[in-house]
Amino acid sequence: EQEKRKRLINEPSVSKDGKSVELAANIGSVKDVDGVLNNGAEGVGLYRTEFLYMERDQLPTEEEQFDAYKAVVEKLDGKPVVIRTLDIGGDKELPYLDLPSELNPFLGFRAIRLCLENEALFRTQLRALVRASAYGNLKVMFPMVATLEEFRAAKALIVEEQEKLRAEGISFDESMEVGIMVEIPSTAVIAKQFAKEVDFFSIGTNDLIQYTLAADRMSEKVSYLYQPYHPAILQLVKNVINASHAEGKWTGMCGEMAGEKTAIPLLLGLGLDEFSMSASSVLQAREQLLGLDSKKCEALATQALTCTTQEEVEALVNEAIR
Ligand code: PEP
Ligand code: MG
Repeated sequence: EQEKRKRLINEPSVSKDGKSVELAANIGSVKDVDGVLNNGAEGVGLYRTEFLYMERDQLPTEEEQFDAYKAVVEKLDGKPVVIRTLDIGGDKELPYLDLPSELNPFLGFRAIRLCLENEALFRTQLRALVRASAYGNLKVMFPMVATLEEFRAAKALIVEEQEKLRAEGISFDESMEVGIMVEIPSTAVIAKQFAKEVDFFSIGTNDLIQYTLAADRMSEKVSYLYQPYHPAILQLVKNVINASHAEGKWTGMCGEMAGEKTAIPLLLGLGLDEFSMSASSVLQAREQLLGLDSKKCEALATQALTCTTQEEVEALVNEAIR
């Protein structure tokens, strides 16, 4: 099957009736880039930078980070690369950072919250990112954004680092996009307000599902409540996509859901612009996309939004793709 799909490596990602989307891949390091290119992905939709920080006993320097980001964007050769700033805390620990022990780490001091409080750490990463933007199509994305103040504060640090680099005569991409992950319900709900200020959204369903249904993504006991196809999730996804399009912005998805066979018709129907998944799923997704009719998927999504349970949504979609 996968061998047969290899012929799709250089095919465009387009539905039967001509609607184009971007099929991108998620990576954790420059080592994953060959897999991205060999599987025909059109970009990197999520580069999780925490691994740069995790496999060691002290913070990575600006130079080390610059080298890593530059290597990835250069290998992608002009294709878009969305790099997520440090998303540590929650389930991911850093032994050399003295993080508080909390009762609910997934609701605690992590990601953008931690970066905004450790400004030196954050500025080092932002400076490395801005410098690397000179070498390809780099976009910066902040994780776990819950309020507009967080986005504004983080964006202001980027602008300050850009001003410093400009004064030093160091070149960078002046039109680098800065976006956010939508993985907290508050942000999905007021996507309209966010859309005026961010350049793009990428929906992180792995976290968005756990926060929307209040079901820990690591807990076996409540895994039955971890429901990607719950109508509430579809409603939030739709709200984010529509809000971005109303402002001429784009929306991607980089949670596991983006590569699922049942999700792809719904997401195409809701108007998702970019699907980012594990590289090994890209060709399968392209094969499925080539057989889909976007107008039928729109009708399917509209109907799915009226369903009352995940079970109903899944039954509806599975019947449609059978
Ligand atoms: C997500 O939450 O959907 C996501 C892509 O981020 P992570 O899985 O790294 O939390
Ligand atoms: Mg997440």
